[in-house]
Amino acid sequence: MSIAKTVLHKFVGYLEAQASELIWKPRCSATIAWEQSQGISAKDKTSKYTGPRGDWSQGYGYITHDGFSATIVAQSQVLDRTATGGWCTEEFGLSSDADHVRVLRGLQQNEEKEALRQQHQARRLQQKKEKEALRQQHRLVVARLKEILSSLKETKPRYRPAFDTDASFPLQERHQVQPPPVPGPPTTQIGPLCLSPGEAASMRVVQDTHVDNSTPRVLYSDGSLLNSGTLEVSQAFGVVDLTQDNPLTVQGRTDGHASSAKAELMGLLAAVLSAPPEQDIVVKLDNQSVVERYSRLVKNRRDTLPRKRFRSTYAGIWAVLWQVVESRPGRVEVVWIKGHSNIHGNELADQAAKVAAQSGSVPWMADLTQQTDITTFAHCYGGIVEIDLRQLLKQQSTIRHHQAWTSQRRVKRAIPDIDDVEWNSTLAYVHDRHAVFTFYNNSKDSHQRTHHIKKLHGMLPTLNSMQVRKPNLYPTCVCRRCELEKEDNDHVWKCPSAAETTTEIWKEAMGKINEWGVQATNSYNAARKREYKRAVDRGRQVPRPVPIHWWPPSDADHVRGFSSIGGARAVHSGSPAPDRDEKPMWNVSDLLRGITPLSMLTEWSAVFRTPMSIAKTVLHKFVGYLEAQASELIWKPRCSATIAWEQTQGISAKDKTSKYTGPRGDWSQGYGYITHDGFSATIVAQSQVLDRTATGGWCTEEFGL
Ligand SMILES: [Zn+2]
Repeated sequence: MSIAKTVLHKFVGYLEAQASELIWKPRCSATIAWEQSQGISAKDKTSKYTGPRGDWSQGYGYITHDGFSATIVAQSQVLDRTATGGWCTEEFGLSSDADHVRVLRGLQQNEEKEALRQQHQARRLQQKKEKEALRQQHRLVVARLKEILSSLKETKPRYRPAFDTDASFPLQERHQVQPPPVPGPPTTQIGPLCLSPGEAASMRVVQDTHVDNSTPRVLYSDGSLLNSGTLEVSQAFGVVDLTQDNPLTVQGRTDGHASSAKAELMGLLAAVLSAPPEQDIVVKLDNQSVVERYSRLVKNRRDTLPRKRFRSTYAGIWAVLWQVVESRPGRVEVVWIKGHSNIHGNELADQAAKVAAQSGSVPWMADLTQQTDITTFAHCYGGIVEIDLRQLLKQQSTIRHHQAWTSQRRVKRAIPDIDDVEWNSTLAYVHDRHAVFTFYNNSKDSHQRTHHIKKLHGMLPTLNSMQVRKPNLYPTCVCRRCELEKEDNDHVWKCPSAAETTTEIWKEAMGKINEWGVQATNSYNAARKREYKRAVDRGRQVPRPVPIHWWPPSDADHVRGFSSIGGARAVHSGSPAPDRDEKPMWNVSDLLRGITPLSMLTEWSAVFRTPMSIAKTVLHKFVGYLEAQASELIWKPRCSATIAWEQTQGISAKDKTSKYTGPRGDWSQGYGYITHDGFSATIVAQSQVLDRTATGGWCTEEFGL
């Protein structure tokens, strides 16, 4: 069937095509010729005819003899439109009158097309321009990049030194790396290490051993730090090689910024340099952080950020170690082992390090010029800076600020003995039990801390300083509570009207001491227990801690504990009583201001028969309680009384903060305190500056009254 279908398809197709060409086309030509002779134009044929039509029963397309039904006629009328005229030329490209219409229509279409084309072209031009501009920009950037890259290649090696020597760095000139100063006794140099000849000889013994790379040689190294935190601090290390007939040992001391990491690091460097260069080695040590840093600063140094390479502690020695490891043909691996767990090599290395730490041998030094990674090191007081320079600078400015602060007369007056203050506890109260470095996170916090700082420095805006500042408002500075004495920062706490309150607060605090003592003792025992457990877990042998008990102190004990504080006995008994010392350094008022004296701490520690840390906690809570209660029960009522008096005098808060330009009172009356010595002129100027921050509105701001 399919073959017949194809053949029939082609047969019919041929007939159809040929009939179009040879029958229909000649017929059209003949008909058009006749039409022309009849004066029927193509336009006539397409123009709309509105007159009566002929009989549709004559049919559409065919002349039938059956006639059409009416519905068919209507249908045909609709179809007519699309079928009328012009079809000859349109369908077969024959020229006829229909051309005229066609041309007209074509012209119109052409115009539209032309407009569209122009639009397109304009758009394309625009796009082209934009593209060209982009390309231009891109070319510029690429050229600039190429320029930069090419100049980089010329001047900088792939791993650049810490500081570009071309960049301006004023320290550069004077602080270029110098070879370490040669100490008194003769020293030898092995690689980058400077050491005494005796110790160099023991190192050479290991160096001369036979190289056997069938398995890597294991070396044990350990460091030791003695008397840490004292002037007699000593750092040493030991390296042990157990692969030979007799254990070979290298040991030595080092100096500089003291830490166990430094001892371990020098030990590691000594171990790597001791082994014959062709020998593959594995160094085993028991300091995890040194092992970690080895992988970061030596093994994977190329992937480590400059910040880590240059700012790590002992960055120079790590760079030296890297250079040594890179340049030796044998491979180096560093492995962590658990310390004090009966590994023979580790025990021997530990012993060697301890022996060396106690010896007085010449400290080993690493020659930092033997590495090229870091070219510049800072020196401070003749020694190289081995910690992060930024940290050192921060420490320096802390010390400078501290010195400047302690030398202020105001501070000297308000804090009788700066060295006899337990600052951890005192600062904890100044910062309202927040960490010292935290920021103020709300206005209440800020006002609290301001109040504490003023209290500590004797800068509470008492009436004497208000009078000096605004003599026009304050004709007198007599205390508004007792109405007897002039009010200054001392009188606030010593005012006779506050004596009863002070005794009450004191008694309450005393009543809480046992509670605080038991708490502190419990947490102390728990901490000892934890320490013991940790030590046992690490394999160290330590004695089991004996729990400490809190013995409630008797009243006599208490009296002994605070006998160094002036006026304490009187407050304790609620009636006048003599002080032990004739001129006591500290007074009860200092405790109320939140200062914790060290001397009191030592006496308490003796009275309570407890470790210092328990006494410290208890005293801290004791002083904290006094300070908080004194603010609530002495300072706030004092402020209320003073404000009430100010209102009767017609002094408004606005008056207090308004700028006063008239003559000031006599500053010799003092800032904060009424003294009989008077202040020097510079102190007056200083106080004037500080005034601004201390003026008016304090009562309400600080306590929301
Ligand atoms: Zn008073």
